This record gives sequence, structure tokens and C-alpha cells, in this order.
Amino acid sequence: MFRSRTAPLAKQFAGAQRQVLSRRGYASPDAGGGGNMPLVLGLAGLAGLGGYVYLQRNPSTQAAISANKNEALGRAEDAADSLKGKAQAGAAALSANANEAIGRSKDKAQEVKDDVKGPFDEERKAMGNPGAAPVEALIKNSWVDFKLEKVEPYNHNTKIYTFSFPDSESIAGGKAASALLTKASDPQALLDDKGKPVIRPYTPISHSDEKGNLRLLVKEYPTGKMSKHIANLKPGETLAFKGPIQKYEYKPNEFAHGVTIGGGSGITPMYQMISHSLSLPEDKTKWTLIFANVTEKDILLREEWDRLAKQHPDRFKAVYTLDNPPFMLWKGEKGFVTKEMISKYLPSDHNEKANTKFFVCGPPGQYAAVCGPKDGMKQGEIKGALGELGYTNDNVFKF
Ligand SMILES: Cc1cc2nc3c(=O)[nH]c(=O)nc-3n(C[C@H](O)[C@H](O)[C@H](O)COP(=O)(O)OP(=O)(O)OC[C@H]3O[C@@H](n4cnc5c(N)ncnc54)[C@H](O)[C@@H]3O)c2cc1C
Repeated sequence: MFRSRTAPLAKQFAGAQRQVLSRRGYASPDAGGGGNMPLVLGLAGLAGLGGYVYLQRNPSTQAAISANKNEALGRAEDAADSLKGKAQAGAAALSANANEAIGRSKDKAQEVKDDVKGPFDEERKAMGNPGAAPVEALIKNSWVDFKLEKVEPYNHNTKIYTFSFPDSESIAGGKAASALLTKASDPQALLDDKGKPVIRPYTPISHSDEKGNLRLLVKEYPTGKMSKHIANLKPGETLAFKGPIQKYEYKPNEFAHGVTIGGGSGITPMYQMISHSLSLPEDKTKWTLIFANVTEKDILLREEWDRLAKQHPDRFKAVYTLDNPPFMLWKGEKGFVTKEMISKYLPSDHNEKANTKFFVCGPPGQYAAVCGPKDGMKQGEIKGALGELGYTNDNVFKF
């Protein structure tokens, strides 16, 4: 079919060639052999144009074009898919790289942060950062020397000693009720009968958070080793300290009623615990202090006890008993602490009585009479007045 439609075109081409020859008027060949070339090219162009038109209109050609188009489309889609895949793979690779880069920058940031953490902390400390915990001057397992700053007389045999810490910003630390141990700074200066250094506990009367120093209220005993050593210290000299030692871990509202029985200088642990409890608004614990002394002027911290009783009349009561009470106007108790005296001040409410805790700290004779002696570092059995009243180790703590 395609060939039969080209025959008329060849005829037209031959006719056109004849017309061109007749117009030139001679039949000699063109100079250079190309005299008819423009005509030939023109005819060839016409034939090409005709062919193109013919092919465009021909259904077979259109089918072929359509097939080609579909094939091309398919190839284009394949290429697009391939590009899409490559793009996705590229994006995934980029994302992985980005994540890796983020990870690396995070690591770097942390390194930088770590680098600057130390110096900032030092700076904060130097600036007295209010959020930072204060440093404790006492060390639990080592002896540290504190310098005696000043001595103030309290009564005829007791003085208040202020010892300063090497760092004026540090505190003693420790919770109610805790004590600290003392020893002579020169270990050979104060030895017991067995040739070992004399070590004695004391409870500071200063607050555990007080900065720069601590205060001890020390009663001097005529034959006492440590109390005499401290009494002989001059300002500028030192005493070795260790602690704090938690003697009893006080918890607010642990019991309804606390009864403290003290004698002489063994009153400071009671003062620390009771004043701490009364300072806590959420603590409802009631306290009774039975404090035994020889004469009225021996009552240590009396102004403090009377102040606390006035401030907390529903929570604190102080009872003083004296061996030698004043001849007149003595409203307190007389003589040693007995079973009857303790019973008199016990809460009348049975439930509250069952929820009562006793604390004892005093001279050896008082331990024996009130609760039985301690067994070395152990509490020992409850004997004496409290034992007779039926109390056991669950109800009694010996400082
Ligand atoms: C937890 C705790 C906290 C203490 N806190 C303080 C405190 O803050 N201030 C303070 O001054 N003391 C306090 N003491 C008592 C202190 O530890 C000493 O026992 C006291 O200073 C006497 O020691 P000394 O070496 O001078 O006497 P020592 O050489 O032990 O005894 C010599 C003689 O002194 C007499 N004696 C000793 N202690 C007493 C006493 N308590 N009552 C009556 N006579 C006694 C005895 O006759 C004894 O034979 C506390 C005790 C404890 C357990």
C-alpha cells in the first residue's frame, strides 16, 4: 500500500523535471554537473513533505506512533521510577547522614557542657550559690582540729566555748539527736588509766546549720578529765572533733508524748531534740522534761526551757527537781527522780501513755536509779523506776 501511493509522486517528479528543462531552453549538462541541483532538491523536499503528510494520516503509522508513544511513555515511567527510587535512596542517605551529624553535634555539645561544668560550679560556689548545700566542717571518720575562739562564763562551774571552723562558710551539720566526739589535739596530752586517749561526747547548743563555728556548754567536774582539759584551753588553742554521731533519729509525730529525764550536763541532747521538735509546725508531739540538779543555780539552760514552755504551753512542760531546793518559794520537785515522780507527770490518757517514749541522759547514778545502766555501747535492760513501771526497750532510749 505504501509503495502504490508513491508511484504518482514519481510521475509528478518526472513531469516537473521536464517543465524545468523546457524553461532553460537547452539540453546541455549544467556546468560542473550540478546545473539541475536546485530543482532536484526542491522536488525531493516536496516528496519528503508529502511523505510526512501521508505518514501522519496513515492509520498504520498512527498505530505505530501510538505504540511507540506507549513504549516511550513506559520507558519514561520506568526512568521516572528509577529516578524516584534513586531520589528516595538519596534522601534516606541524606537523612541518615543528618541523624549522624545531629548525634555528633549532640556529643560535641555534651563535651562542651562537661568542659564548662567544673568552672561554673566553682564560680557558683565562690558566689555563694544559695541552692548549693553547705559544706560540713565535721568529718564522720576523721579527727579535725577546731580553734577555740572565745569562752563565756555561764554559771559557777559551766562555760560556753565557741570553736571556729577552718572555713567560715561551713556548718557543723547533723540531725536531732546527734552528738560529736572530742579528744585532745595532742593525743598524748590526755590519756585514760589504760594509756588510751580520752574521748568524750558533747552535744552543741548551737544550731547544726550555724556557719563558721559551734558552741559547747561544758560543765567542769572537779575530777573530770575532758571537762577539765576543755576548761584549761586558751583562746587560739585547738580541740580535736569527730562526728556527727546520730544517737537517736528523731521523727516528728513518732510518739504522742516524749518524757526526757536528765541530770547535770547531760541535758544538751534533750535541748537539741525538744527545741527541734517544737520548731516544726507539723509536729504535734508533746514533751515533758524532768531535770534533776543539786541546786537552783545548777539548772543549765533554764531561761531556754522557760522560754519554750511559755511559747508552747500545750506542747512543752519543764519540771525541775533539786537535791537542795531554796528554803522558800520553790515550786518544783525535791530530791532524786523516783517512780512516783515520773508517774505524776505521765499523761492520764491511757492511749497516750502507751504511746510514750522516755529519753534518759545524766550521771551514772541517775541511769541506775531511773532506767538501769547502759551495757557499754548497747542500751542494756530497762531496770530502775521505768522498769518497775513496766516500760521496756521499746519505750526507753538511753543517750
Ligand atoms: C550524748 C551525750 C552528750 C553530752 N553532752 C554534754 C554537754 O553538752 N556538755 C557537758 O558538759 N557534758 C556533756 N556530756 C557529758 C560528757 O560527755 C562527759 O561525761 C562529762 O563532761 C564528764 O567528762 P569528764 O571526762 O570531765 O569526767 P570523767 O573523767 O569521765 O569523770 C570524772 C568524775 O566526774 C563525775 N562525773 C562525770 N560525768 C558526770 C555527770 N554527767 N554528772 C555528774 N557527775 C559526773 C563522776 O564523779 C566521775 O567519777 C554528754 C554526754 C553524753 C552521753
